[in-house]
Amino acid sequence: MGRHFLQIPGPSPEPDAVLRAISATTIDHRGPEFQQLGSRLLEAIKPVFGTTNPVIIYSSSGTGAWEGALTNTLSVGDRVLFYETGHFASLWIEMATRLGLRPDVIGSDWRHGVDAEAIGQRLAEDTAHEIKAVCCVHNETSTGVTSDIRAVREAIDAAGHPALLMVDTISGLASADYRHDEWGVDVTVSGSQKGLMLPPGLGFNAVSDKAVEASKNGGMPRSYWDWAPILEANSRGFWPTTPSTNLLFGLEVALQMLEEEGMEAVFARHQRHAAATRAAVRAWGLEILCLDERYYSPVLTAVVMPEGHDADAFRKVVLDRFDMSLGSGLGRLAGTVFRIGHLGWINDLTLMGTLAGVQMGLHLSGVPVAGDGVAAAMAVLEEEARA
Ligand SMILES: *Cc1c(COP(=O)(O)O)cnc(C)c1O
Repeated sequence: MGRHFLQIPGPSPEPDAVLRAISATTIDHRGPEFQQLGSRLLEAIKPVFGTTNPVIIYSSSGTGAWEGALTNTLSVGDRVLFYETGHFASLWIEMATRLGLRPDVIGSDWRHGVDAEAIGQRLAEDTAHEIKAVCCVHNETSTGVTSDIRAVREAIDAAGHPALLMVDTISGLASADYRHDEWGVDVTVSGSQKGLMLPPGLGFNAVSDKAVEASKNGGMPRSYWDWAPILEANSRGFWPTTPSTNLLFGLEVALQMLEEEGMEAVFARHQRHAAATRAAVRAWGLEILCLDERYYSPVLTAVVMPEGHDADAFRKVVLDRFDMSLGSGLGRLAGTVFRIGHLGWINDLTLMGTLAGVQMGLHLSGVPVAGDGVAAAMAVLEEEARA
């Protein structure tokens, strides 16, 4: 009885109104009603990315939108500078390699954000301008670290380097502050199932003029991911192939909800829930994976399991007993970390239910906890409510 708690960092819980919209009958995607919907959506999506430029909407997962970003702007053999903040960055690097790009990787301990200075240094050394793009993950969902993208742009400019800046904010969009135009991002990659509160199935590329120019003059062999036919059809409110019509119905409602709440309030809500979650983790005496407090993620918190305790066994107890899904440790963090998602359609009490489930699960799993994390989180939320 009651709802399943989907507290993984994406897919996130969907609002009832979004689900209702999606359940409507599919309409003719070449007809006038769709044309109006398409035209409205292609405008309404822009402020969420902080752009006045076009946003390409694919029927795909976020991974497809990664491929769209790389294949439209880069050529086989191009050098691309990647900063490996965690598992998702490493998957994007793997894709680039498979596509025939030559990634230069700046590695990390998966506990810090992007070091913009290190990027600037690599670019300064590249006097021949062989590096064609810099790729970073804004909100690294595997570690709970949100990087400073503005600083990356500043480092690129300070090095006087012409590389494109491509950013994955698949899990950051509509949860963590993000500004495509202001931060000078050339391609922003996102997806539907995280901050946008939709089911999986839509991928996004927000583009700069420079990125569109690069796609016109080059790029790799591509077909489905090609921006040109999509932008052409989009100019009339359509897509070249059958779009995910029903997800677009949901997207319209989700965008209305975000607009109504106001993006600043959306960001503040996520920050509040993240702060309350960290208070709980500290009271339990557990370790937050992110080691740099400037870059704590508002979207999720990754928690390090004490030595000798298996994060997946704990997650299984929580799922079996309390019907709540928590995120697993990914890649090299498997078994040693669990992740609490606090993004999307949640409120203070959803978060408290989540943290209560974590606390009970820790007790039942025999994980030693120092104190009452639930009370510590409530204190944070109460203080915020009084302010
Ligand atoms: C979820 C996620 C992805 C992968 O997206 P899919 O929709 O699973 O393809 C990539 N990068 C980040 C940062 C993510 O959070």
